[in-house]
Parts: sequence; structure tokens; C-alpha cells
Amino acid sequence: MEKSVCCTCLKPKATLECGACKESVCKNCAQFLEEGSFSFLAKVPEQLSHGTYCSNCFDTHVSAELADYTHTLELAKDIHIFENDQGKETRFFNRKEKPLKVENCADREDVFLRLGFLAAKAGFNTLIDVAVTYEKVVSGTYKTHKWKGSGVPTNVAEARLNRKSNLKSPSR
Ligand SMILES: [Zn+2]
Ligand SMILES: [Zn+2]
Repeated sequence: MEKSVCCTCLKPKATLECGACKESVCKNCAQFLEEGSFSFLAKVPEQLSHGTYCSNCFDTHVSAELADYTHTLELAKDIHIFENDQGKETRFFNRKEKPLKVENCADREDVFLRLGFLAAKAGFNTLIDVAVTYEKVVSGTYKTHKWKGSGVPTNVAEARLNRKSNLKSPSR
């Protein structure tokens, strides 16, 4: 690629292009976003789907979202999970929310974490009636499993949760 003027430092050594504004940007000024950085979002907005940004676009579109995303991911690890065979423990918990669903997960832990992410993002601390299933997928000679799951998000007082010692939790 021909070198052009960087939109940030104005030096004529830009070899990259900002995915958002399409301006030329040099290696020193470019901000990079790893592929899959926002993969837990139910839908990744177009502005967050690029690999390379100029500083301006990164500050405008990405940095706050990235901080928020990282925070939610931390919360997701602390979501309390009750599976659908734990109806006894959860029988008094509120079930008025619609179930959350995730598909195409790598394994069971991934299902818990992705469900937890959606629940945390919506402001809940617990998932109940969590059901996890998988199907075998064959592509060529390669066999793998695709996991999916659902669970009802709810809020339960921490004190009430901590009383139980037999909680299954997705955190490692
Ligand atoms: Zn530059
Ligand atoms: Zn830009």
C-alpha cells in the first residue's frame, strides 16, 4: 500500500486504514482491536467490528464500550447459576423474566459464561432453570460439539445465596 498522510500525526507514513472513518493512519497512531473482542455481545455493532482504528475513532466509538464490556465480563464470572434440576433450591425465586439463550458455544463453561454475560449486562446476578445441551457437528473428518443453553435471569439477595454451600457456580 502506498504511504499517505496519517490523519492523527499528519506525517506521511500511514500504511494502515481506520476501519471506521476510512482515513489513513500510521502504525504508531493506530489502535488495534483483537478479533472477537466483543464476541459476547448478542450483536456486535458495526462500529465495534473493525480491527484497526485511528485514535479519534477509537476514543469516540470503542474505548468506553470496551471498558464497559470488560466490566460486564467480570460480573459474568460471579453470576450464580442454578441448573434446571435444582428446582428445590430455586422454587421461591422470581421467574418473571424471559429466558436468555446462547448458541454455538465451545463447551459447557462457555455456555455459563455467555449466559452470565447477558444476565450481567441486563443487571441481574443470578440465572435459574439453566438448561445446557449440545449437538455433534461433523464437518469433513472433523467432529466437534456445539453447545447451547438457556436460563431465566433474576435477582436474588447475596445473603440468601451465600447461605447455601452447594451452589454450582461457573467461576473457576
Ligand atoms: Zn500517525
Ligand atoms: Zn478513524
